[in-house]
Amino acid sequence: MVLDRSTIWPYHDGEPGEFYYQRYGHPTGVEAERRLGELDGGQALLFASGAGATTALVLALLSPGDTIALAEGAYYGTGVTLRELERWGLHVAEFDQTGAPPEGVELVWLEAPSNPFLTMPDLEAAAAHPARVVVDATAATPVHLRPLEHGADFVLHSATKYLAGHDDALLGAIVCRQDDDAERLKEFRTRSGIVAAPDPAFLLLRGLQTLELRVRRQTESATELARRLAKHPNVSTVRHAGFGGLLSFDVAGADEARHVETSLRLITNATSLGGVHSVLEARARWEGGRVPPGLLRLSVGLEPVEALWDDLAQALEIPGSFPSRE
Ligand code: PLP
Repeated sequence: MVLDRSTIWPYHDGEPGEFYYQRYGHPTGVEAERRLGELDGGQALLFASGAGATTALVLALLSPGDTIALAEGAYYGTGVTLRELERWGLHVAEFDQTGAPPEGVELVWLEAPSNPFLTMPDLEAAAAHPARVVVDATAATPVHLRPLEHGADFVLHSATKYLAGHDDALLGAIVCRQDDDAERLKEFRTRSGIVAAPDPAFLLLRGLQTLELRVRRQTESATELARRLAKHPNVSTVRHAGFGGLLSFDVAGADEARHVETSLRLITNATSLGGVHSVLEARARWEGGRVPPGLLRLSVGLEPVEALWDDLAQALEIPGSFPSRE
């Protein structure tokens, strides 16, 4: 693995070589893109963050007046980013991704599985739609889903999450099915400067070496925790896609959610997901009324599953809380 922080490289015989100025490309990024492209079966491009990748994709490939059909319940921030771009003449229409996308849209935006509702999109129905299809597969990772094989045109990752995997790199990626889309996105990336620096690209390369092991273990632990949570008297709903390390569950309300957040000893009360350490938070603090006030999102890390369960079980001993499912 190379970590070359140079912003410039010397010309050869008066001519620029493969690398000459970092905004156009750098060796660490190119190597990380090669490996991610192999994993997803397409041409990968890195961006400064997942939100940066979202912005680049939309600005590079759509035009004013175009409409994006956005999966209801997809990552809250994606809706925020896309609505920011409505000022430039784009429209956003939400739809239920478990069914067919609406007619008359230029881009279909799916999330597999959605964060934090954990629904899965109907990939077949989306592939049959005339518009191009983006699948944000941040929570699935290529270990569990390769959307290009299901007819998607683009896979989007917040590589900040599982791909880099250690909560120390902010990074986004788009993997393209078509070479001309990749060319256009790369051109836009250079012009807009929404580029990934060498250091996070290096951390992505390191993370990819253990991706499969991490994700398989996280899936195993999350599946077991989801099973136990579903039987807990203070938990009313558990959402898990059946794979992946992300799950969410509901306690009675905001006070109960706050009790759980502040009682944790092993699991960190923080945002984000996909790292080696487990984190949990009440999503209502960010998403307001879009989520139940007692919805807790848990990203399961690599800690022993029994230790995670012990921590959840003690945090779920909520004083004065009555079993909500009886
Ligand atoms: N997509 C999903 C599913 C996410 O969970 C996130 C961040 O939480 C993003 C995109 C945005 O990524 P980033 O925070 O790297 O900009």
